[in-house]
Amino acid sequence: MNDVIIIGGGPAASAMGSFLSKAGIKNLILEAANHPRQHVGESMVTSSTRVFRELGFLETLEREGFVHKYGASWHAFNGQEFAIWFKEFPQEGVGQEYTYHVDRAKLDILMLKHAESLGSEIYQGVRVSEVLFEDGYARGVRAKIGRTEIDLPCKMVVDASGRTTLLGNQLKLKVNDPIFDQFAVHAWFKDVDRGTQETGDFIHIYFLPVERGWCWQIPINDEITSMGIVAEKAVFKEARLDAEAYFNKYVESNPALIHAMRNAKRLNDYKKEGDYSYSLRKFVGNGHVMIGDAARFVDPIFSSGVSIALYSAKYASERIRMAFETGDFSEAMFQPYEDKLRGGVNIWYEFIRLYYKLLPLFTHFIQSKEHRIEVLRLLQGEVYDRADVPVLDAMRKYIRKVEESPDHLFRKHLSNIPVD
Ligand SMILES: Cc1cc2nc3c(=O)[nH]c(=O)nc-3n(C[C@H](O)[C@H](O)[C@H](O)COP(=O)(O)OP(=O)(O)OC[C@H]3O[C@@H](n4cnc5c(N)ncnc54)[C@H](O)[C@@H]3O)c2cc1C
Repeated sequence: MNDVIIIGGGPAASAMGSFLSKAGIKNLILEAANHPRQHVGESMVTSSTRVFRELGFLETLEREGFVHKYGASWHAFNGQEFAIWFKEFPQEGVGQEYTYHVDRAKLDILMLKHAESLGSEIYQGVRVSEVLFEDGYARGVRAKIGRTEIDLPCKMVVDASGRTTLLGNQLKLKVNDPIFDQFAVHAWFKDVDRGTQETGDFIHIYFLPVERGWCWQIPINDEITSMGIVAEKAVFKEARLDAEAYFNKYVESNPALIHAMRNAKRLNDYKKEGDYSYSLRKFVGNGHVMIGDAARFVDPIFSSGVSIALYSAKYASERIRMAFETGDFSEAMFQPYEDKLRGGVNIWYEFIRLYYKLLPLFTHFIQSKEHRIEVLRLLQGEVYDRADVPVLDAMRKYIRKVEESPDHLFRKHLSNIPVD
Protein backbone atom coordinates (compact mmCIF):
# COMPACT_ATOMS: atom_id res chain seq x y z
CA MET A 1 0.00 0.00 0.00
CA ASN A 2 1.19 3.54 -0.70
CA ASP A 3 1.79 5.77 2.25
CA VAL A 4 0.47 8.87 0.48
CA ILE A 5 -1.44 9.40 -2.75
CA ILE A 6 -1.01 12.86 -4.25
CA ILE A 7 -3.70 14.02 -6.69
CA GLY A 8 -2.28 16.26 -9.46
CA GLY A 9 1.09 16.81 -11.06
CA GLY A 10 1.66 20.57 -10.86
CA PRO A 11 4.28 22.37 -8.73
CA ALA A 12 2.40 21.70 -5.49
CA ALA A 13 2.22 17.95 -6.14
CA SER A 14 5.83 17.62 -7.30
CA ALA A 15 7.12 19.63 -4.35
CA MET A 16 5.04 17.49 -1.99
CA GLY A 17 6.30 14.26 -3.59
CA SER A 18 9.87 15.50 -3.30
CA PHE A 19 9.53 16.49 0.37
CA LEU A 20 7.88 13.18 1.28
CA SER A 21 10.47 11.07 -0.54
CA LYS A 22 13.23 12.98 1.19
CA ALA A 23 11.55 12.06 4.49
CA GLY A 24 11.36 8.39 3.45
CA ILE A 25 7.58 8.42 2.94
CA LYS A 26 6.43 6.39 -0.05
CA ASN A 27 4.22 8.42 -2.37
CA LEU A 28 2.29 8.04 -5.59
CA ILE A 29 1.51 11.04 -7.81
CA LEU A 30 -1.54 10.68 -10.09
CA GLU A 31 -1.73 13.31 -12.82
CA ALA A 32 -4.73 13.55 -15.16
CA ALA A 33 -2.82 15.26 -17.98
CA ASN A 34 0.14 14.03 -19.97
CA HIS A 35 3.12 16.32 -19.54
CA PRO A 36 4.37 18.50 -21.08
CA ARG A 37 1.11 20.43 -20.85
CA GLN A 38 0.65 24.19 -20.97
CA HIS A 39 -0.32 26.11 -17.87
CA VAL A 40 -0.84 29.69 -16.79
CA GLY A 41 1.37 31.10 -13.98
CA GLU A 42 4.72 31.93 -15.53
CA SER A 43 6.36 34.43 -13.19
CA MET A 44 7.82 33.54 -9.80
CA VAL A 45 8.51 35.50 -6.62
CA THR A 46 11.90 35.34 -4.91
CA SER A 47 10.77 33.48 -1.77
CA SER A 48 10.28 30.39 -4.01
CA THR A 49 14.07 30.13 -4.28
CA ARG A 50 14.31 28.85 -0.70
CA VAL A 51 12.04 25.91 -1.45
CA PHE A 52 13.70 25.19 -4.81
CA ARG A 53 17.06 25.16 -3.03
CA GLU A 54 15.82 22.90 -0.24
CA LEU A 55 14.56 20.45 -2.86
CA GLY A 56 17.84 20.54 -4.81
CA PHE A 57 16.01 21.96 -7.84
CA LEU A 58 17.86 25.28 -8.25
CA GLU A 59 20.56 23.63 -10.36
CA THR A 60 17.90 22.45 -12.80
CA LEU A 61 16.40 25.94 -13.08
CA GLU A 62 19.85 27.32 -13.90
CA ARG A 63 20.83 24.51 -16.26
CA GLU A 64 17.61 24.87 -18.26
CA GLY A 65 18.20 28.60 -18.74
CA PHE A 66 14.92 29.95 -17.39
CA VAL A 67 14.80 33.74 -17.68
CA HIS A 68 16.15 35.55 -14.62
CA LYS A 69 13.65 37.96 -13.09
CA TYR A 70 15.35 40.80 -11.20
CA GLY A 71 12.31 42.92 -10.45
CA ALA A 72 8.89 44.23 -11.36
CA SER A 73 7.65 47.34 -13.09
CA TRP A 74 4.26 49.09 -13.19
CA HIS A 75 3.05 51.39 -15.99
CA ALA A 76 0.48 54.08 -15.26
CA PHE A 77 -1.65 55.70 -17.99
CA ASN A 78 0.42 58.89 -18.06
CA GLY A 79 3.57 57.07 -19.20
CA GLN A 80 5.13 56.90 -15.73
CA GLU A 81 6.97 53.67 -14.90
CA PHE A 82 7.55 52.49 -11.33
CA ALA A 83 10.16 49.76 -10.90
CA ILE A 84 11.43 47.73 -7.93
CA TRP A 85 14.56 45.56 -7.81
CA PHE A 86 14.59 42.47 -5.61
CA LYS A 87 18.19 43.21 -4.60
CA GLU A 88 16.97 46.26 -2.66
CA PHE A 89 16.09 43.89 0.18
CA PRO A 90 18.36 40.81 0.39
CA GLN A 91 16.24 37.97 1.79
CA GLU A 92 17.58 35.48 4.29
CA GLY A 93 18.12 32.07 2.73
CA VAL A 94 17.50 33.26 -0.83
CA GLY A 95 21.07 34.14 -1.78
CA GLN A 96 20.42 35.51 -5.27
CA GLU A 97 19.08 38.81 -6.58
CA TYR A 98 16.63 37.25 -8.99
CA THR A 99 13.92 34.68 -9.36
CA TYR A 100 12.60 33.13 -12.62
CA HIS A 101 10.07 33.46 -15.40
CA VAL A 102 9.13 30.04 -16.74
CA ASP A 103 7.48 28.16 -19.54
CA ARG A 104 5.18 26.13 -17.29
CA ALA A 105 5.07 23.18 -19.67
CA LYS A 106 8.81 22.88 -19.17
CA LEU A 107 8.95 23.75 -15.46
CA ASP A 108 6.18 21.36 -14.48
CA ILE A 109 7.62 18.33 -16.26
CA LEU A 110 11.07 19.07 -14.83
CA MET A 111 9.60 19.28 -11.34
CA LEU A 112 7.76 15.99 -11.86
CA LYS A 113 10.97 14.31 -13.06
CA HIS A 114 12.77 15.73 -10.05
CA ALA A 115 10.16 14.22 -7.72
CA GLU A 116 10.56 10.93 -9.56
CA SER A 117 14.34 11.04 -9.16
CA LEU A 118 13.86 11.44 -5.41
CA GLY A 119 11.52 8.45 -5.19
CA SER A 120 7.95 9.44 -6.13
CA GLU A 121 6.05 6.96 -8.26
CA ILE A 122 4.27 8.87 -11.01
CA TYR A 123 1.40 7.96 -13.32
CA GLN A 124 0.23 10.42 -15.95
CA GLY A 125 -3.06 10.29 -17.84
CA VAL A 126 -4.76 9.04 -14.68
CA ARG A 127 -7.70 11.11 -13.46
CA VAL A 128 -8.85 10.75 -9.87
CA SER A 129 -12.63 10.89 -9.69
CA GLU A 130 -13.13 10.60 -5.95
CA VAL A 131 -11.35 10.41 -2.62
CA LEU A 132 -12.43 7.30 -0.69
CA PHE A 133 -13.23 7.54 3.02
CA GLU A 134 -13.32 4.84 5.71
CA ASP A 135 -14.50 5.58 9.26
CA GLY A 136 -14.26 9.31 8.50
CA TYR A 137 -10.66 9.13 7.27
CA ALA A 138 -9.45 9.54 3.67
CA ARG A 139 -7.96 6.13 2.87
CA GLY A 140 -7.63 5.99 -0.90
CA VAL A 141 -8.76 7.28 -4.25
CA ARG A 142 -10.86 6.07 -7.17
CA ALA A 143 -8.97 6.67 -10.40
CA LYS A 144 -9.80 6.33 -14.07
CA ILE A 145 -7.32 4.86 -16.51
CA GLY A 146 -8.91 4.96 -19.93
CA ARG A 147 -12.35 3.45 -19.29
CA THR A 148 -11.24 1.38 -16.33
CA GLU A 149 -11.88 2.52 -12.77
CA ILE A 150 -9.67 1.32 -9.98
CA ASP A 151 -9.60 1.93 -6.24
CA LEU A 152 -6.18 2.61 -4.78
CA PRO A 153 -5.71 2.42 -1.00
CA CYS A 154 -3.26 4.56 1.00
CA LYS A 155 -2.65 5.85 4.49
CA MET A 156 -3.51 9.43 3.57
CA VAL A 157 -4.39 11.66 0.60
CA VAL A 158 -2.98 15.01 -0.56
CA ASP A 159 -5.18 16.99 -2.93
CA ALA A 160 -2.97 19.04 -5.27
CA SER A 161 -5.47 19.07 -8.14
CA GLY A 162 -5.19 22.83 -8.65
CA ARG A 163 -8.28 24.78 -9.56
CA THR A 164 -10.14 21.50 -10.11
CA THR A 165 -10.34 21.45 -6.27
CA LEU A 166 -11.34 17.80 -6.43
CA LEU A 167 -11.68 17.18 -2.70
CA GLY A 168 -13.00 20.67 -1.97
CA ASN A 169 -15.86 19.99 -4.39
CA GLN A 170 -16.45 16.49 -3.07
CA LEU A 171 -16.70 17.77 0.53
CA LYS A 172 -18.54 20.95 -0.54
CA LEU A 173 -15.93 23.19 1.07
CA LYS A 174 -15.45 25.64 -1.77
CA VAL A 175 -16.53 29.24 -1.29
CA ASN A 176 -16.30 31.81 -4.08
CA ASP A 177 -14.50 34.94 -3.04
CA PRO A 178 -16.96 37.61 -1.86
CA ILE A 179 -15.03 40.43 -3.59
CA PHE A 180 -13.05 39.07 -6.50
CA ASP A 181 -14.36 37.43 -9.64
CA GLN A 182 -11.41 37.85 -11.95
CA PHE A 183 -11.07 36.72 -15.54
CA ALA A 184 -8.00 36.54 -17.80
CA VAL A 185 -7.35 36.34 -21.54
CA HIS A 186 -3.75 35.55 -22.48
CA ALA A 187 -1.42 34.35 -25.25
CA TRP A 188 2.23 34.22 -26.28
CA PHE A 189 3.68 36.79 -28.70
CA LYS A 190 6.95 37.47 -30.47
CA ASP A 191 8.44 40.89 -31.16
CA VAL A 192 7.03 42.52 -28.03
CA ASP A 193 9.08 45.58 -27.12
CA ARG A 194 9.97 44.67 -23.53
CA GLY A 195 11.49 48.07 -22.72
CA THR A 196 14.96 49.07 -21.67
CA GLN A 197 17.88 46.69 -21.19
CA GLU A 198 17.75 47.37 -17.47
CA THR A 199 14.15 46.30 -16.87
CA GLY A 200 13.34 44.35 -20.05
CA ASP A 201 13.36 41.01 -18.23
CA PHE A 202 11.21 42.23 -15.32
CA ILE A 203 7.56 41.39 -15.12
CA HIS A 204 5.72 44.46 -16.43
CA ILE A 205 2.23 45.33 -15.26
CA TYR A 206 0.19 47.84 -17.26
CA PHE A 207 -2.77 49.54 -15.56
CA LEU A 208 -6.05 49.28 -17.49
CA PRO A 209 -8.97 51.71 -17.14
CA VAL A 210 -11.46 49.18 -15.75
CA GLU A 211 -12.23 47.82 -12.33
CA ARG A 212 -9.32 45.62 -11.18
CA GLY A 213 -7.89 45.67 -14.68
CA TRP A 214 -4.25 45.13 -15.64
CA CYS A 215 -2.07 43.46 -18.24
CA TRP A 216 0.98 41.28 -17.58
CA GLN A 217 4.11 41.10 -19.72
CA ILE A 218 6.29 38.09 -18.87
CA PRO A 219 9.39 37.09 -20.87
CA ILE A 220 9.36 33.33 -21.50
CA ASN A 221 12.64 33.27 -23.43
CA ASP A 222 14.60 35.59 -25.73
CA GLU A 223 11.81 35.58 -28.29
CA ILE A 224 8.54 34.72 -26.63
CA THR A 225 6.62 37.04 -24.31
CA SER A 226 3.47 36.07 -22.47
CA MET A 227 0.81 38.81 -22.37
CA GLY A 228 -2.40 38.59 -20.36
CA ILE A 229 -5.34 40.90 -19.74
CA VAL A 230 -6.97 40.53 -16.32
CA ALA A 231 -10.17 42.23 -15.15
CA GLU A 232 -13.46 41.51 -13.44
CA LYS A 233 -15.38 38.77 -15.24
CA ALA A 234 -18.26 41.22 -15.65
CA VAL A 235 -15.99 43.44 -17.75
CA PHE A 236 -15.46 40.60 -20.22
CA LYS A 237 -19.15 39.65 -20.26
CA GLU A 238 -20.34 43.21 -20.78
CA ALA A 239 -17.83 43.79 -23.59
CA ARG A 240 -19.60 41.07 -25.68
CA LEU A 241 -16.41 40.60 -27.70
CA ASP A 242 -14.49 37.50 -28.67
CA ALA A 243 -11.15 36.90 -26.94
CA GLU A 244 -9.08 38.60 -29.64
CA ALA A 245 -11.22 41.74 -29.91
CA TYR A 246 -11.41 41.97 -26.10
CA PHE A 247 -7.64 41.59 -25.77
CA ASN A 248 -6.96 44.23 -28.44
CA LYS A 249 -9.47 46.65 -26.96
CA TYR A 250 -7.56 46.72 -23.69
CA VAL A 251 -4.12 46.81 -25.29
CA GLU A 252 -5.32 50.06 -26.87
CA SER A 253 -6.17 51.53 -23.48
CA ASN A 254 -2.67 52.18 -22.10
CA PRO A 255 -0.12 54.12 -24.23
CA ALA A 256 2.84 52.14 -22.83
CA LEU A 257 1.12 48.90 -23.76
CA ILE A 258 0.34 50.14 -27.25
CA HIS A 259 4.05 50.89 -27.61
CA ALA A 260 5.15 47.49 -26.29
CA MET A 261 2.74 45.64 -28.62
CA ARG A 262 3.17 47.74 -31.76
CA ASN A 263 5.07 45.00 -33.69
CA ALA A 264 3.86 41.98 -31.73
CA LYS A 265 2.76 38.81 -33.51
CA ARG A 266 0.69 36.20 -31.73
CA LEU A 267 2.17 32.68 -31.54
CA ASN A 268 -0.67 30.61 -30.09
CA ASP A 269 -4.42 30.74 -29.43
CA TYR A 270 -5.88 33.03 -26.80
CA LYS A 271 -6.69 31.18 -23.61
CA LYS A 272 -9.32 32.23 -21.10
CA GLU A 273 -9.14 31.64 -17.34
CA GLY A 274 -12.18 32.25 -15.15
CA ASP A 275 -13.73 31.25 -11.83
CA TYR A 276 -10.43 31.35 -10.05
CA SER A 277 -11.23 33.48 -7.03
CA TYR A 278 -12.16 31.14 -4.18
CA SER A 279 -11.09 29.57 -0.94
CA LEU A 280 -11.88 26.31 0.84
CA ARG A 281 -13.48 26.54 4.28
CA LYS A 282 -10.95 23.96 5.48
CA PHE A 283 -7.59 22.90 4.05
CA VAL A 284 -7.30 19.76 6.21
CA GLY A 285 -9.33 16.89 7.60
CA ASN A 286 -8.88 13.33 8.87
CA GLY A 287 -6.33 11.67 6.62
CA HIS A 288 -6.15 14.48 4.08
CA VAL A 289 -4.74 17.90 3.27
CA MET A 290 -5.24 20.29 0.35
CA ILE A 291 -2.30 22.24 -1.02
CA GLY A 292 -1.63 24.88 -3.69
CA ASP A 293 -4.59 26.01 -5.76
CA ALA A 294 -6.58 23.05 -4.46
CA ALA A 295 -6.81 25.03 -1.20
CA ARG A 296 -7.15 28.62 -2.31
CA PHE A 297 -6.61 31.04 -5.16
CA VAL A 298 -7.59 34.68 -5.49
CA ASP A 299 -5.82 36.89 -7.99
CA PRO A 300 -2.44 36.65 -9.70
CA ILE A 301 -1.50 40.36 -9.58
CA PHE A 302 1.58 39.70 -7.41
CA SER A 303 2.60 36.33 -8.98
CA SER A 304 2.04 34.55 -5.67
CA GLY A 305 0.50 31.25 -6.92
CA VAL A 306 3.52 29.00 -7.43
CA SER A 307 5.16 30.30 -4.26
CA ILE A 308 2.02 29.40 -2.29
CA ALA A 309 2.00 25.98 -3.99
CA LEU A 310 5.61 25.36 -2.90
CA TYR A 311 5.25 26.64 0.67
CA SER A 312 1.97 24.79 1.20
CA ALA A 313 3.72 21.57 0.13
CA LYS A 314 6.62 22.29 2.45
CA TYR A 315 4.51 23.11 5.51
CA ALA A 316 1.98 20.32 4.95
CA SER A 317 4.76 17.77 4.41
CA GLU A 318 6.21 18.66 7.82
CA ARG A 319 2.91 17.68 9.49
CA ILE A 320 2.58 14.57 7.32
CA ARG A 321 6.01 13.49 8.48
CA MET A 322 4.84 13.89 12.09
CA ALA A 323 1.67 11.94 11.31
CA PHE A 324 3.77 9.01 10.09
CA GLU A 325 6.03 9.25 13.15
CA THR A 326 3.13 9.24 15.61
CA GLY A 327 0.45 7.30 13.72
CA ASP A 328 -1.96 10.21 14.26
CA PHE A 329 -3.65 11.14 10.96
CA SER A 330 -6.42 13.21 12.51
CA GLU A 331 -7.45 16.67 11.39
CA ALA A 332 -5.85 18.06 14.57
CA MET A 333 -2.45 16.81 13.40
CA PHE A 334 -2.73 18.81 10.17
CA GLN A 335 -4.41 21.91 11.59
CA PRO A 336 -1.10 23.76 12.32
CA TYR A 337 -0.33 23.52 8.59
CA GLU A 338 -3.66 25.12 7.75
CA ASP A 339 -3.13 27.88 10.33
CA LYS A 340 0.32 28.66 8.98
CA LEU A 341 -0.76 28.70 5.35
CA ARG A 342 -3.87 30.76 6.08
CA GLY A 343 -1.74 33.28 7.97
CA GLY A 344 0.45 33.73 4.88
CA VAL A 345 -2.24 33.75 2.22
CA ASN A 346 -4.36 36.15 4.29
CA ILE A 347 -1.48 38.61 4.11
CA TRP A 348 -1.30 38.19 0.32
CA TYR A 349 -5.08 38.62 0.18
CA GLU A 350 -5.11 41.80 2.23
CA PHE A 351 -2.26 43.24 0.17
CA ILE A 352 -4.17 42.47 -3.05
CA ARG A 353 -7.38 43.94 -1.64
CA LEU A 354 -5.73 47.21 -0.58
CA TYR A 355 -3.89 47.40 -3.90
CA TYR A 356 -7.17 47.26 -5.81
CA LYS A 357 -8.92 49.58 -3.39
CA LEU A 358 -6.73 52.50 -4.40
CA LEU A 359 -4.21 51.96 -7.20
CA PRO A 360 -2.28 55.24 -6.81
CA LEU A 361 -1.66 54.34 -3.17
CA PHE A 362 0.52 51.42 -4.26
CA THR A 363 2.65 53.51 -6.60
CA HIS A 364 2.82 56.23 -3.93
CA PHE A 365 4.02 53.71 -1.32
CA ILE A 366 6.67 52.11 -3.51
CA GLN A 367 8.11 55.55 -4.14
CA SER A 368 8.11 56.49 -0.46
CA LYS A 369 11.30 56.05 1.57
CA GLU A 370 9.24 54.96 4.55
CA HIS A 371 7.25 52.16 2.91
CA ARG A 372 9.17 50.97 -0.16
CA ILE A 373 11.15 48.19 1.50
CA GLU A 374 8.15 46.84 3.39
CA VAL A 375 6.09 46.73 0.20
CA LEU A 376 9.02 45.02 -1.53
CA ARG A 377 9.19 42.38 1.21
CA LEU A 378 5.58 41.48 0.46
CA LEU A 379 6.27 41.40 -3.28
CA GLN A 380 9.15 39.01 -2.56
CA GLY A 381 6.70 36.67 -0.83
CA GLU A 382 7.74 37.22 2.79
CA VAL A 383 4.31 36.47 4.26
CA TYR A 384 4.69 33.51 6.63
CA ASP A 385 5.04 33.63 10.43
CA ARG A 386 4.50 37.37 10.54
CA ALA A 387 2.57 38.52 13.61
CA ASP A 388 1.83 41.90 12.11
CA VAL A 389 2.50 43.74 8.87
CA PRO A 390 2.67 47.47 9.68
CA VAL A 391 2.74 48.51 6.02
CA LEU A 392 -0.76 47.04 5.54
CA ASP A 393 -1.97 49.10 8.53
CA ALA A 394 -0.37 52.16 6.95
CA MET A 395 -2.17 51.43 3.66
CA ARG A 396 -5.50 51.08 5.48
CA LYS A 397 -4.91 54.33 7.36
CA TYR A 398 -4.09 56.14 4.15
CA ILE A 399 -7.24 54.84 2.48
CA ARG A 400 -9.35 56.07 5.42
CA LYS A 401 -7.75 59.49 5.08
CA VAL A 402 -8.64 59.62 1.39
CA GLU A 403 -12.21 58.48 2.11
CA GLU A 404 -12.62 61.23 4.68
CA SER A 405 -11.15 64.02 2.51
CA PRO A 406 -13.56 65.08 -0.24
CA ASP A 407 -10.81 67.05 -2.01
CA HIS A 408 -8.07 64.44 -1.89
CA LEU A 409 -6.26 64.02 -5.22
CA PHE A 410 -6.67 60.21 -5.07
CA ARG A 411 -10.36 60.24 -4.12
CA LYS A 412 -11.67 59.63 -7.62
CA HIS A 413 -9.52 56.46 -7.77
CA LEU A 414 -11.21 54.77 -4.77
CA SER A 415 -12.88 51.52 -5.83
CA ASN A 416 -15.94 50.00 -4.16
CA ILE A 417 -13.95 47.20 -2.44
CA PRO A 418 -14.81 47.11 1.28
CA VAL A 419 -11.95 47.83 3.70
CA ASP A 420 -12.46 47.27 7.44
C1 LIG B 1 -4.70 34.22 -14.93
C2 LIG B 1 -3.70 33.62 -14.00
C3 LIG B 1 -2.40 34.07 -13.97
C4 LIG B 1 -1.46 33.52 -13.09
N1 LIG B 1 -0.18 34.01 -13.04
C5 LIG B 1 0.69 33.52 -12.14
C6 LIG B 1 2.04 33.98 -12.07
O1 LIG B 1 2.47 34.82 -12.86
N2 LIG B 1 2.86 33.45 -11.14
C7 LIG B 1 2.43 32.48 -10.26
O2 LIG B 1 3.21 32.04 -9.41
N3 LIG B 1 1.18 31.99 -10.32
C8 LIG B 1 0.31 32.49 -11.24
N4 LIG B 1 -0.94 31.96 -11.31
C9 LIG B 1 -1.32 30.89 -10.37
C10 LIG B 1 -0.71 29.56 -10.76
O3 LIG B 1 -1.19 29.19 -12.04
C11 LIG B 1 -1.10 28.52 -9.73
O4 LIG B 1 -1.12 29.08 -8.45
C12 LIG B 1 -0.18 27.31 -9.73
O5 LIG B 1 -0.17 26.69 -10.97
C13 LIG B 1 -0.67 26.33 -8.64
O6 LIG B 1 0.01 25.11 -8.73
P1 LIG B 1 -0.74 23.76 -8.28
O7 LIG B 1 0.28 22.70 -8.37
O8 LIG B 1 -1.48 23.99 -7.03
O9 LIG B 1 -1.87 23.54 -9.40
P2 LIG B 1 -1.70 23.28 -10.94
O10 LIG B 1 -0.45 23.84 -11.43
O11 LIG B 1 -2.98 23.72 -11.59
O12 LIG B 1 -1.62 21.69 -11.05
C14 LIG B 1 -2.73 20.89 -10.78
C15 LIG B 1 -2.58 19.61 -11.58
O13 LIG B 1 -3.59 18.71 -11.17
C16 LIG B 1 -4.04 17.97 -12.29
N5 LIG B 1 -5.40 17.48 -11.98
C17 LIG B 1 -6.53 18.20 -11.89
N6 LIG B 1 -7.56 17.41 -11.57
C18 LIG B 1 -7.06 16.16 -11.45
C19 LIG B 1 -7.63 14.91 -11.12
N7 LIG B 1 -8.94 14.79 -10.87
N8 LIG B 1 -6.84 13.81 -11.08
C20 LIG B 1 -5.50 13.92 -11.33
N9 LIG B 1 -4.91 15.09 -11.65
C21 LIG B 1 -5.67 16.20 -11.70
C22 LIG B 1 -4.00 18.98 -13.43
O14 LIG B 1 -3.90 18.33 -14.67
C23 LIG B 1 -2.77 19.80 -13.07
O15 LIG B 1 -1.62 19.36 -13.76
C24 LIG B 1 -1.87 32.48 -12.20
C25 LIG B 1 -3.17 31.99 -12.26
C26 LIG B 1 -4.10 32.55 -13.14
C27 LIG B 1 -5.49 32.02 -13.16
